[in-house]
Amino acid sequence: MNEHREMSEQEEKQPEIRYVNLYEKEDKIYTRKITGFFQSIRRYTGLPLIAAYLLLPWLVIDGRPAVLFDLPERQFHVMWLTFWPQDFMLLGWLLIIAAFALFTVTVLLGRVWCGFTCPQTVWTLMFISIEHFCEGDRNRQIKLDQTAWSLEKVMRKGSKHGLWILVAFITGATFIGYFVPIRELLLGMIPHRDVAGMLRIDASPVAVFWTLFFTGMTYMNAGWLREQVCKYMCPYARFQSVMYDQDTLAVHYDVKRGEPRGARKGKGESKPDNVGDCIDCSWCVQVCPVDIDIRDGLQYECINCGLCVDACNAVMDKMEYPRGLIRFTSEDELQTGKTNFVRPRLFGYTFIVFVMVAAFIVTIAMRSPLSVDVARDRGARLYRLSGGEIQNVYTLKISNMDNSPHQYDVEVQGDYPFVLRNLPDYVVANGEVLTIPIRVSIPRDQFDQDKVPLKVIVQAQDNDKIRAVEQTNFMGPGQKAR
Ligand code: SF4
Ligand code: SF4
Repeated sequence: MNEHREMSEQEEKQPEIRYVNLYEKEDKIYTRKITGFFQSIRRYTGLPLIAAYLLLPWLVIDGRPAVLFDLPERQFHVMWLTFWPQDFMLLGWLLIIAAFALFTVTVLLGRVWCGFTCPQTVWTLMFISIEHFCEGDRNRQIKLDQTAWSLEKVMRKGSKHGLWILVAFITGATFIGYFVPIRELLLGMIPHRDVAGMLRIDASPVAVFWTLFFTGMTYMNAGWLREQVCKYMCPYARFQSVMYDQDTLAVHYDVKRGEPRGARKGKGESKPDNVGDCIDCSWCVQVCPVDIDIRDGLQYECINCGLCVDACNAVMDKMEYPRGLIRFTSEDELQTGKTNFVRPRLFGYTFIVFVMVAAFIVTIAMRSPLSVDVARDRGARLYRLSGGEIQNVYTLKISNMDNSPHQYDVEVQGDYPFVLRNLPDYVVANGEVLTIPIRVSIPRDQFDQDKVPLKVIVQAQDNDKIRAVEQTNFMGPGQKAR
């Protein structure tokens, strides 16, 4: 009998297992509109990002778009700098720096990137604002969905989808505007009649296809998929928990203060002794864009957007209780009353980011608009010429990564009197890679070595600062062969 009772107690203590069907149809989330401190921050971080995204392709520097990834020409213009495929290592660097910066911010502030600056969140917020504007707040939306189709419903739904498609098109066209000059793209998409009276557009079919593709993706992601992108598609959501520690600031519910939760009449009513501050109004759940209850504890779906903080603070104000029942805090602070900001991991990540950013800036500042590569002819070690000379043949590659064409002087330097033979003058256009054979020779009686280092120096004729030096070897017959 006792054994039986112990077993049933143990069974009762087992944590509840939640089974999730990944193919289950998700219920539509109706979010309650809320204002507050964190929503203002979201607006003020989101608006400059959207403005920068929309305006950058229109900005012109030196007669070309300030940011243009010109794939056919293989040139990537970013403000005053032009990058070439040879600079892809810098892109790799930039991605590594971005990843470490994200790790640093996550250790300190949890998924604050997700909640405040991620394009998926910013665009979803924009689409939800349009939804609230066209269909009203949460309760009106639920009611509208439950009513039969009427002219009002068609107008409200139609205007919402019309505005969504318009925003999605602006987003898609702007994105393609980073690859094709945006004025050209938009003017080219305006239909007009040609000389034969046929309706046509001038924009390239590829550009039109990708514009429509990104329009559709934006409409789907921000209008329909929303939180499901964060929950099921975003890889960052999966590994962010590895970076959390006891002192990471994230949105938490203060269980000690809130529990036991319980409904009560309202403001001014003296709180019964046996309940906590949570009045179980569920506002924190109703505003949540990923439809979770933060009172169940930290969950991987939470994007740290702070909506539930603002909602609960509004409720606390109404009840005349202190704010902060849900707040940005750490697990340590909830347990011990103190967050430890000086942590080795945080210091390590910050240090790495600073070092990498400094190295990146130095690399960009010292980047030469000229790249040279010299490869020795693998077909023959050396050539013996009539007239008593020995000769080595090399393939010289000159990459002009400047914004203007150049002619270059080429010379060779070494410990022996090497001579460069018959090098014609070439103009290398901007972005062009010139590949030419070069021949270096020396009288046989002045050279008895097997192998000596040789420098190939390439210098722009019109700019002393554009210069590159490449090391190679000159191969000789060796002393035994003489
Ligand atoms: S909003 Fe605050 S008071 Fe209302 S249910 Fe959530 S935690 Fe409790
Ligand atoms: S639980 Fe709160 S912070 Fe987390 S996603 Fe929901 S509303 Fe945002």
